[in-house]
Amino acid sequence: MKIIGLLGGMSWESSLEYYKIVNEKVKEKLGGYHSCECVMYSVDFDRIKELQFKGDWDQLTQIMIDAAKKIERGGAEMLTICTNTMHKMVPEIERNITIPIIHIADATAEVVKSKGITKVALLGTRFTMEQDFYKVRLINNHGIQTIIPEEEDLVQIHNIIFNELVLGIIKQESKEIYIRIINSLIKRGAQGIILGCTEIPLLIKQSDCSVPVFDTTQIHAEKTVEFALKD
Ligand code: GLU
Repeated sequence: MKIIGLLGGMSWESSLEYYKIVNEKVKEKLGGYHSCECVMYSVDFDRIKELQFKGDWDQLTQIMIDAAKKIERGGAEMLTICTNTMHKMVPEIERNITIPIIHIADATAEVVKSKGITKVALLGTRFTMEQDFYKVRLINNHGIQTIIPEEEDLVQIHNIIFNELVLGIIKQESKEIYIRIINSLIKRGAQGIILGCTEIPLLIKQSDCSVPVFDTTQIHAEKTVEFALKD
């Protein structure tokens, strides 16, 4: 089993899920008392959020590179970054470490393709929904087309993530807002929904939707274990 590196804290609410899923999966695959071997570095999200909102991606890139290097020095043989948004700086991180990164969009795309789906709605932070780093990877590397909510809905999706989900606040009325927006995206042609923020699965489940939902936290954590157990 490879030593897994987890770069978390964005937010710790979802990092907790990663830690739980990777351990559950290792136990499921290896049985007995097995659990994952891992090194985790968890950042202070207050600083990250402030820089994201300021648009200071250069400083964020440096923070991510430093954290990834610490994880590598700590003995990790692979790296899983426990957030969709911060995959924006994967190319720069890759240039600064030698261990492989398990990319959340690639892991998710594989599952989307396995269901024969070619057009998905992408829900996440404003940064993930609007910027190119996720959508372009899905279309260029995997042939998956994405649609995102209209501006007013996009703001609601983003605000619920930052004002509630990353703080561990789960509200029924926010769930209803998400479901309404998901239904409007299905009407616009979405054959599936990527829950492209690692906290959204705390609010939205498959049973809330009439089309397949892709829980990036679950998918990414499972892919991490698959890679860790590969020879
Ligand atoms: N966990 C979130 C994501 O998957 C958002 C937190 C962040 O902005 O990094 O994108």
